[in-house]
Amino acid sequence: LNRRLDGLGTTIFAEMSALATATGSINLGQGFPDTDGPAEVAEAAVRAIRAGHGNQYPPGPGVPELRTAIAEHQQRFHGLAYDPDTEVLVTAGATEAIAAALLALLEPGDEVIALEPFYDSYAACIAMAGAVRVPLTLRAPSFRPDLDRLRDLITPRTRLLLLNTPHNPTGAVLTPAELTAIADLAVAHDLLVVTDEVYEHLVFGGSHHPIAALPGMRERTVSISSAGKTFSFTGWKVGWVTASPDLVAAVRTAKQYLTYVSAGPFQYAVAEALRLPDTYFETLRTDLSRKRDLLADGLSAAGFEVFRPEGTYFITTDITPLGEKDGLEFCRTLPARCGVVAIPNVVFYDNTDAGRSLVRFTFCKRKETLDEAVTRLKRLA
Ligand code: PMP
Ligand code: GLN
Repeated sequence: LNRRLDGLGTTIFAEMSALATATGSINLGQGFPDTDGPAEVAEAAVRAIRAGHGNQYPPGPGVPELRTAIAEHQQRFHGLAYDPDTEVLVTAGATEAIAAALLALLEPGDEVIALEPFYDSYAACIAMAGAVRVPLTLRAPSFRPDLDRLRDLITPRTRLLLLNTPHNPTGAVLTPAELTAIADLAVAHDLLVVTDEVYEHLVFGGSHHPIAALPGMRERTVSISSAGKTFSFTGWKVGWVTASPDLVAAVRTAKQYLTYVSAGPFQYAVAEALRLPDTYFETLRTDLSRKRDLLADGLSAAGFEVFRPEGTYFITTDITPLGEKDGLEFCRTLPARCGVVAIPNVVFYDNTDAGRSLVRFTFCKRKETLDEAVTRLKRLA
């Protein structure tokens, strides 16, 4: 393994999901629903395969049907107009979009300021690009970004801000005021912004605001999203980028040599999914917000300090009230102690002190599963 990938051995998701399987535990670690998305969307994928749509290499930027549907979705939900031919790129999940964007836009030695805790692929992709990550730490209990600190972190080497809202794992959703302050800094210092918005539809109470919609931002922002979370088909790995033609062309160049193209038939199905009526998106949100409350209340009753998330399908907790200090140790022993798997937030930090006692649970599971997990976790007290 080369030095760039030092310390990036096995992702925590692989480690913890393997532990869940080996111990037969309830897996509230890796974020994937235990119920598939809409049957009509699954049918659309089957129909596409049977009809021979996308069974051979589809076009590199994505099939036109999906690129058009992505552009329509950006207009319908965010008032953002993108040209499906030059400003939309289909990728193998948001994961590839992140990798391709960072590989395409960063020079070795460039500094990238990213919200910490960061989703683990950010650290790996910044490292693979030979760039330097500079964390802006979100701290409990509110996990708001410190915008004065952000200003101080910007240097002449800063090339790019890497955002994630709604934010995994804290569940924080950046407010219009925060986004405006970040956008002002990006414009003032001529920075690019890569924004990971895969949880854009999983917001409870408030709403999601894309930074690309702010003045001066459209031409410097690469927006990334994915069908995995919005349609509960995380295994399909259909993601996308929307940005100005220059930025999309750059990301496309990198994407060509990562996967060349993304799986065909699912693209047709996701094109249909993106056009589902508003009620689909509303029901998804209401169902998940009920599950959030169920798990948040259960975790509180089990003795955890709970930071109720505004978005995503994760709850971050602090295990200190349970007499525990070390989240990694806690998560490695939790399956044996009570048959539940969770994710230690510390692995998403450079400043490990800020995350040592934090543990993440997902609530994108059936009610019975969440109830049973809470029953088991109560045995810890
Ligand atoms: N970004 C964040 C913040 C995520 O939580 C995930 C989890 N799946 C991804 C990107 C990757 O998305 P995909 O599965 O579409 O590659
Ligand atoms: N995004 C999901 C999570 O954070 C899944 C991660 C993954 O499979 N790499 O749990």
